[in-house]
Amino acid sequence: MLSVDNKTTTKNLFELNSSLPQVYVASGAGAYKNTINVLKRIDLSPAKGKKVLLKPNAGRLASKGEGITTDPLVVAAAIDSFKQAGAEVSVGESPITGVTAMEAFEATGIAAVTLERNCELIDMDKRPFVALEIPEGRAIKKIKVCADVFDHDFIVSIPVMKIHMHTLATLSLKNMKGCLWRRSKVDLHMLPMLKDINEIPLNVAIADMSGVLRPHLSIVDGTVGMEGMGPSGGKAKKLGLVVAGTDAFAVDSIACRLMGLCAENIPHLRMGAERGYGVIDIEKIKIHPETWINLVSPFSPPPKNLSIEFPKINILDKNSCSACQSTLILFLKKYGEAVLDYFPENTNISMAIGKGHDKVPQNTICIGNCMAKANQEKFVKGCPPVGSEILKTITGKTSLDSDKVKKEVKE
Ligand code: SF4
Repeated sequence: MLSVDNKTTTKNLFELNSSLPQVYVASGAGAYKNTINVLKRIDLSPAKGKKVLLKPNAGRLASKGEGITTDPLVVAAAIDSFKQAGAEVSVGESPITGVTAMEAFEATGIAAVTLERNCELIDMDKRPFVALEIPEGRAIKKIKVCADVFDHDFIVSIPVMKIHMHTLATLSLKNMKGCLWRRSKVDLHMLPMLKDINEIPLNVAIADMSGVLRPHLSIVDGTVGMEGMGPSGGKAKKLGLVVAGTDAFAVDSIACRLMGLCAENIPHLRMGAERGYGVIDIEKIKIHPETWINLVSPFSPPPKNLSIEFPKINILDKNSCSACQSTLILFLKKYGEAVLDYFPENTNISMAIGKGHDKVPQNTICIGNCMAKANQEKFVKGCPPVGSEILKTITGKTSLDSDKVKKEVKE
């Protein structure tokens, strides 16, 4: 079981008496060795004879090197380090809607490294959920957590270093959202604005969640990260580093710095730190090695308006989830030029996603179940919707044979 003390914080059994969080950065030796090198600096002996759950980002169907999911060699090194410490290790995930954990483990290369190591893979959506109360929650008071989380003594979050269109950065705390059961993840995107907190409710909910569902150890994979339109539609960015430590907030804070961001500007990190769930103040974190600052490589921020990226299409986005946004971005990257042939010249093309639209212009292509209420002729159902259905709605075809289709973009 996770240990939850009376401050609703998850006790960190690796570092019970630490007042100065330590964060370790390793670079230049490749994904596997960098991970081994940072984990060597952390005392893993409390894991001896215990059950450890590794929670990488295997939430989508993406391959190694795309900057979307955790590099399998980082997972491999974490398995080897914990096994060497005498732990029983499993790897688990609850991916985005429409993807199964086992498909994602295969696609990401994580299945192959676990097979070689005789390490159990867990589809965390298989079993019924366990409800977890959040007494200090401001946006949410309860979450549905995958039962497997409670069967383990330690949880290790292993995210990819990414920009996120809604949360600005997605690192080890946000990665814990993949421990929420099945579609209950989407609930965090459906929250109404809060009366007394001027923040996107999703960010408040992630801060709430981090009060009761924090990893005991965080390993941020900065081998290849993602900048711009993250978490899945941006550009891969090679950094070649790994960051780790036992205070998830401190690790995320240093990962932010390495990305050229400031954790104080990432709402869920700032709010969680203000509540005492961890430390983001860089002056209060011991970072190794001292030369870590030389590794900073600023990530491009998310575009403020998607229509800047796709100038011929007017994209109307009001309170969409990242799942809807990613579907549309990947669709437009692949078919954005090709589908223009299906509209008469000088037509104003509008596409809308999100929960916040009361009204949209006539003939808007409405994408996702939230847009059903707009009652437009061209409506793509799904939550999240899929790119092939958008294509069918626009062109009447399930595939396009056009040299304007960008072949290298995977949906
Ligand atoms: S349709 Fe899209 S915006 Fe609406 S809940 Fe589903 S994923 Fe979120």
